[in-house]
This record gives sequence, structure tokens and C-alpha cells, in this order.
Amino acid sequence: MSTLLEVSGVSVSFDGFKAINNLSFRIGPAEMRAIIGPNGAGKTTFMDIITGKTKPDEGRVVWGEKSVSLLKMNEAQIARAGVGRKFQRPTVFEDQSVFDNLLMALKNERSPWQVLTFKPKFKDLGKVEELASEIGLSDELHRKSGELSHGQKQWLEIGMLLAQEPRLLLVDEPAAGMTLAEREHTTDILVEAAKTRAVVVVEHDMEFVRRLNCKVTVLHEGSVLAEGSLDHVTQNQDVIDVYLGR
Ligand code: ADP
Repeated sequence: MSTLLEVSGVSVSFDGFKAINNLSFRIGPAEMRAIIGPNGAGKTTFMDIITGKTKPDEGRVVWGEKSVSLLKMNEAQIARAGVGRKFQRPTVFEDQSVFDNLLMALKNERSPWQVLTFKPKFKDLGKVEELASEIGLSDELHRKSGELSHGQKQWLEIGMLLAQEPRLLLVDEPAAGMTLAEREHTTDILVEAAKTRAVVVVEHDMEFVRRLNCKVTVLHEGSVLAEGSLDHVTQNQDVIDVYLGR
């Protein structure tokens, strides 16, 4: 199986405390992966290492067919190489329409006024419509983003990330604060996205993880405690002990 991202033997300490301890991880180019683990397990720090926000003290992080090291790149270069990250809080431009938010993302513009002075091409309009359909917001294209529900804002932000055509999408707790119907729709969006790119979802909600129907990596004390199907890892005695705090 081919590999998009390979992390080997990575460790990071903060003031002598090992937040990530000899962690290894690999993901293929069209694979969905859920990362679970108790608070403080190192999930956020691990995402920070992949995106270049935190540089490990040791280990390797290798990317793509040419096996380039992400450790030599800064955050902007890693993003340009194809790593997109969605944080928990949506950061859409509330005063702009869904359409303009997607258009801005497509053009990689950083401020709403830039989109006003920019003349979209016909193919851009088609691409915006395609993205809106992927995230289920085709009927909301001309609504102000500030009027969207919490779930819709999250989908819009996923759409804005997809507009940049990442090869790896990192998503932090996408289902937090969502209704059941919204969670189901979020699953559909991510599953569809993972058909053509790698998607890593950090999530606490086990029902949500179950619906993703993917391999699960359990982190604990900065290392991989277990890996496999959700049923496999939840039957693992070490995982049970960690979750029950034994
Ligand atoms: P998770 O996302 O799984 O809750 P984190 O990656 O946020 O875990 O944190 C892992 C451990 O590293 C925690 O014990 C946390 O307190 C510690 N940690 C994370 N970032 C820093 C930092 N910048 N300085 C000191 N300690 C940190």
C-alpha cells in the first residue's frame, strides 16, 4: 500500500515533559483515520508536528512520493505542500456569503475586500458550486455565512479547506456541538472527501468515530497504544484500562 505521510520515532518534550514519545504513524493517499485518546494524550501536539507548528526533538516526518521531510519546512510551506487543518472553531467570514467565502478560499485570498476587486472566471463559479454541493450548502450559497447554523459553518469551513485541494486534511473534533443529523451529514462529507485524499479526524465522540468506519489510532501518553478497527481497539485491555483510568 502506498504511503502519503510517514511519521517515525517522533518525540517532543516541553520543559522536560515528554508530550510525544517515540510515536510512529503512517497514512495512505486516500485513507480515513480517526485518532482518539484521553485528554493530554498528545493528539493536538501530534497535529502540530504534522503541520510544522511544533518541531520534534527527534524522529522523521516524511511526505509524498518523493519522501520529502516536512521537518525542513515551515507551516506555510507544509500547507502549500498539501496539508490542510481544520480547528474546532469555524473561522468563516461572517459578513460574506457562502459563495464569497468559498471563492476566497479557492483563490486563497486572505481578506474579504480582495474578493470584491477580483473578477471570478467561469470555471471558478463552477468550482464553487461543486464545493457547495460537496458540503451540502448548494441552497445556501447566497446567504451570509453569519446566518448559518453552527453545523453549516463547520461544513463551510471544510469546503474552504477542500477548495485548497489538500492531499491530507486534519480535522479536529468536527462533531463537537452538533445535532445528530448534523453529525451524520459531517460523516458523509468526510467519508466522501477521503475517497480522493487522506483525512485524519481527532474525535472524542465514539458514535461519530463508528460512523466513519475507518482504522482508529489510540494515543496515550504521547505514544500509539493501539491501532485497528474501532471494535478491535475498544476490546484492547490497555485501551480499556486507560479509558477507565486504571
Ligand atoms: P491532547 O490534544 O490529546 O489533549 P495535547 O497534545 O494538547 O493533548 O497535550 C499533550 C501533553 O503535552 C499534555 O500533558 C499537555 O499539558 C502538554 N503540552 C502540550 N503543549 C504544551 C506546551 N506548549 N507547553 C507545555 N506542555 C504542553
